[in-house]
Amino acid sequence: MENFRFALQPNSDWQSEPVRQPRRHPNHLSLIRGIIVNSGSIDVQGWKQLMDGQVLLRPAIFLDRDGTINKEVNYLRDPGQFELLPGAAETIARWNEQHWLVVLVTNQAGVGRGYFPMTAVDAIHSKMNALLAEKGARLDGIYLCPHHPDEGCACRKPKTFLFETSAKELGIDLKKSYLIGDKLTDLLPARHLGARAILVRTGYGEEQLGAIGQINGLTVSVAFDLPDAARIIEKEQ
Ligand SMILES: [Mg+2]
Ligand SMILES: [Zn+2]
Repeated sequence: MENFRFALQPNSDWQSEPVRQPRRHPNHLSLIRGIIVNSGSIDVQGWKQLMDGQVLLRPAIFLDRDGTINKEVNYLRDPGQFELLPGAAETIARWNEQHWLVVLVTNQAGVGRGYFPMTAVDAIHSKMNALLAEKGARLDGIYLCPHHPDEGCACRKPKTFLFETSAKELGIDLKKSYLIGDKLTDLLPARHLGARAILVRTGYGEEQLGAIGQINGLTVSVAFDLPDAARIIEKEQ
């Protein structure tokens, strides 16, 4: 399927992380060992899954990019303009240490509009990964839609395709997951996925506050920024 593009960012340990392996992977021993190492707590259902030889699904925190983890710049195309928001890297690092997968899902319509090439996006993501790594933080996956909004592609948020694809590939329990973004289009997929939604007031978040009431069937929590979103999540666990 060529109408979407995603890129898993290489990082030091993902190859060996068992939850990324296909379901019914024969090496259950490494699977079990990995989960004990990687997961702070396993609930009863999790142990049942292990006993059944199934892959344990992990909850994810799905993050929007611009205005959520980095400063909003209209059609960001220059890595030099990429700036992490205060506390973003530290928050992601803490999630990495807990049981969460952290997955970036971003619409980059600037590519489809011809404003910048995919190589520019790759350069920005290299810088982003380097800045995150300085604080001991990493993204477990990056999924992006590069299409023009008029193309009617399957992957542009608020469509759910990228979330569902990452869930299959990374072994994510969507119903225990969170979507965090500065626009309601980042959060609307939560309704279909059965996930929870947090609007951050950074980026365009402040402007979006008034529209929250128009969404039916989805409870949206509001956080000042990513560290505040982490506090909300911790309270709900
Ligand atoms: Mg955004
Ligand atoms: Zn798309």
